[in-house]
Amino acid sequence: MTNVSLSVLEQKQDFIRRHIGPDASEQSAMLETMGVSSLDELITQTVPADIRLPAPLQMGGARTEVETLAYLKSLAQQNQVFRSHIGMGYSNTFTPHVILRNVLENPGWYTAYTPYQPEIAQGRLEMLLNFQQMTLDLTGLDLASASLLDESTAAAEAMALAKRVSKNKKSNTYFVADHVHPQTIDVVKTRAEAFGFDVIVGAWNTAGEHDVFGALLQYPGTTGEVNDLAEVIAAVQAKKGIVAVAADIMSLVLLKAPGQMGADVVLGSAQRFGVPMGYGGPHAAFFATRDAYKRSLPGRIIGVSKDTSGNVALRMAMQTREQHIRREKANSNICTAQVLLANMAAFYAIYHGPQGLKTIANRIHRLTSILALGLQQGGLKLANSSWFDTVLVAVDDKSAVIEAAQARGINLRLDVSGHVGISLDETTTATNVNELFDLLLGESHNASVQVLDQQVIDAAGVIPANLQRDTEFLTHPVFNRYHSETEMLRYIKRLENKDLSLNHSMISLGSCTMKLNATAEMIPVTWPEFGQLHPFCPREQAKGYTAMMTELSDWLINITGYDALLMQPNSGAQGEYAGLLAIRKYHESRGDAHRNICLIPQSAHGTNPASAQMASMKVVVVACDTDGNIDLNDLREKAESMADQLSCLMVTYPSTHGVYEETIREVCDIVHANGGQVYLDGANMNAQVGLTSPGFIGADVSHLNLHKTFCIPHGGGGPGMGPIGVKQHLAPFVAGHAVVDMDGEAKDNGAVSAAPYGSASILPISWAYIAMMGSQGLKHATEVAILNANYLTQRLKEHFPVLYTGRNDRVAHECILDIRPLKEASGITEMDIAKRLIDYGFHSPTMSFPVAGTLMVEPTESEAKVELDRFADTLIAIRQEIAKVEKGEWSLEDNPLVNAPHTQQNVMGEWPHSYSRETAVYPLPSVAQNKFWPTVNRIDDVYGDRNLFCACVPMSEYE
Ligand SMILES: *Cc1c(COP(=O)(O)O)cnc(C)c1O
Repeated sequence: MTNVSLSVLEQKQDFIRRHIGPDASEQSAMLETMGVSSLDELITQTVPADIRLPAPLQMGGARTEVETLAYLKSLAQQNQVFRSHIGMGYSNTFTPHVILRNVLENPGWYTAYTPYQPEIAQGRLEMLLNFQQMTLDLTGLDLASASLLDESTAAAEAMALAKRVSKNKKSNTYFVADHVHPQTIDVVKTRAEAFGFDVIVGAWNTAGEHDVFGALLQYPGTTGEVNDLAEVIAAVQAKKGIVAVAADIMSLVLLKAPGQMGADVVLGSAQRFGVPMGYGGPHAAFFATRDAYKRSLPGRIIGVSKDTSGNVALRMAMQTREQHIRREKANSNICTAQVLLANMAAFYAIYHGPQGLKTIANRIHRLTSILALGLQQGGLKLANSSWFDTVLVAVDDKSAVIEAAQARGINLRLDVSGHVGISLDETTTATNVNELFDLLLGESHNASVQVLDQQVIDAAGVIPANLQRDTEFLTHPVFNRYHSETEMLRYIKRLENKDLSLNHSMISLGSCTMKLNATAEMIPVTWPEFGQLHPFCPREQAKGYTAMMTELSDWLINITGYDALLMQPNSGAQGEYAGLLAIRKYHESRGDAHRNICLIPQSAHGTNPASAQMASMKVVVVACDTDGNIDLNDLREKAESMADQLSCLMVTYPSTHGVYEETIREVCDIVHANGGQVYLDGANMNAQVGLTSPGFIGADVSHLNLHKTFCIPHGGGGPGMGPIGVKQHLAPFVAGHAVVDMDGEAKDNGAVSAAPYGSASILPISWAYIAMMGSQGLKHATEVAILNANYLTQRLKEHFPVLYTGRNDRVAHECILDIRPLKEASGITEMDIAKRLIDYGFHSPTMSFPVAGTLMVEPTESEAKVELDRFADTLIAIRQEIAKVEKGEWSLEDNPLVNAPHTQQNVMGEWPHSYSRETAVYPLPSVAQNKFWPTVNRIDDVYGDRNLFCACVPMSEYE
């Protein structure tokens, strides 16, 4: 018998060595290149001693994949999956299996980043364009974005848009109809309070009576009623107000589009188009408005442009409206925003097509009418006289109904006094409706779905004729040609093939932390026990979720060194906003409401100033010195001179320059000494976990990007989770929720997201990561992230100047390559390098953030030495190509850099260039082994913005 080790320890660490790219011998080899004897020595050289944690993390040991999944399954089984008829913007749905497996469960789709390099993102850009087209068709408006975080935050964005574009400049008041979903009213009120707007909540049909800059209506209303909104919309607009309508996407299949009733903005959740409820998320929100307001639209817009060969090519349009350019003047702070879920919803529309969607919507509506008729014939009164899928039923003994419903495993809506609400969805069957009859009419009733069905068919519909859709939708061929599964499968695959994601090669986007999203971490996400819970179901049905989230919170509290954690914000930027609101409320509670200055270093991420603006703070920029560090003198001078009004400092650590600033404790002290709070942007936590922590350093609040540090995949631009950790003194001021009683948080603090725990269904990913790494594994991951970054720096620094380094000339977990001197000498730009990397099969590092003319490289711990070397060899080869341009061997007008990327089409037929085809597309032997072909040439940004076109391209354009 061979002598195999049965050491449990070894098995337990199995996941750690799979998550971490370089093995022990590779690590030694890398350390040797750097002249360092051990990982410990490197860390001592790199991380300032005064911020090193005195004690190890307390997660315990690593668990195996099998143990982790078994434990998560046991938690999942503590969730009770009731049939939820709660509605309120969340419905059961069937995720078509071809989409479930080939999109949601497919790393080709879920590991990509936001399409910053559009030439290798045409697949998801095409799907997002389909999402926009679907939005346009269903809403009846001119211009749509892709996509927002949830319906309630989309409504808050609509309010902000109204304020920007309304001609009623005098009014500071926004009207919200009381038939809007309660969580949306909550989120809008929170946002209004932060902006200093007044909110009137009143009956929807009184909106026109007020002097307001805008109004929000719901369609159908939260009670289920389908109202003709046209007159009220016109009345508000007559007083120069902007009207937004939050609409149910499935109802729009049958109902007149709100755009046709005159709405200025139409928004809503695309969840019920095939995205599981997931106890609150993630889901995509849609948002459409008039063409005239295009410059005010929040979030991303995908637009059609051309590439250098004149072919149709897609890209993100009008980026100049966004925070990374306009900072505190941006339309919104939205960065990560649910791309994967928007893609799923659009695929759902393609899968069913307009006819299939009509069948689904009609079926839902017919069953609802059967339910309504049966209940009425049985003597019950409905609060609404029209409906799409929801009725409110008056009940005498509500608690008896609730009890009986629970006994049958049914959830009804309970928050309307004297009534229960019932919403149906595409999964509801005739049997379910019969069961609802049994429940509400008693067992001896004689309501029968079959008999009632005939009566419903014979009767006039409850949707008034003028509110029925009489326009076509989804007429574009894309929604009408993939209705066999073979065709659908191939369409999904065809688009996937156009995009470079982590299953092809390393994506070294600095600040984005594109680490491994392990398969074992992803598996629980699509378990029904996590997927099918309604966010407003009774808490006792979500015991498994509560247990999982409590454990995850405790771990994150330990990792961050804070005292409490809020699991609500569904992106990093949303976390910033939530954290700044907590700071604001804290100051207010101490009679310091006037503290409204937010100091932000020059180098900060654009979301920081954009979030500060949303919290009505005044942004004051703090300078950085020539080494890229916060200029302490400037900070001290500003903090002291503004001490009376100082609210906080927002600082990223390690800095966005990729350096552990030695003075971080002093920075915190200066701010505190002047009465301010410290917001530490946690996007760079991958360089902190286990070595230091924001709480230990002295900060008061941080968001974590669970989709960076804690392995939630980026989904091509979302989902994400941005929980915030806070010190004790801020804990009473974090967000609450109007519908769900959350432990510990004050209900009336106001919500920042639609769902109490944000995108709860992706939290098992972070839970599993931490469980499988354990305390030591997590710390080791941080150390190797630092090792990998310093190794790359070591290999690249003779070829490209590294802009900033910290102590002992080390970088943290990322490094900035300065392309400006090269550009000066050769005319080749950082953009040319980014595009040339595509020819070599790589995604570019982060371009021109935080410094214009640079590339910021973050390898993460998950990349093995072989991949790091391949990447370094590639950049060095590109440097040699640049040298040829410098020496005049290639002209600046015709060389493989400025012509990059090259497509298959380019290398066929005539070859007009001064370099060879091989140089163009197989520049290194390793490239030929695993060639990634971009499907378009370099895309013309200017053309796209000048000729803004944001809907599906007519088929003729492709011919
Ligand atoms: C990614 C990032 C953010 C924003 O996070 P999102 O989840 O995309 O909203 C903020 N700050 C920094 C430094 C980041 O890298």
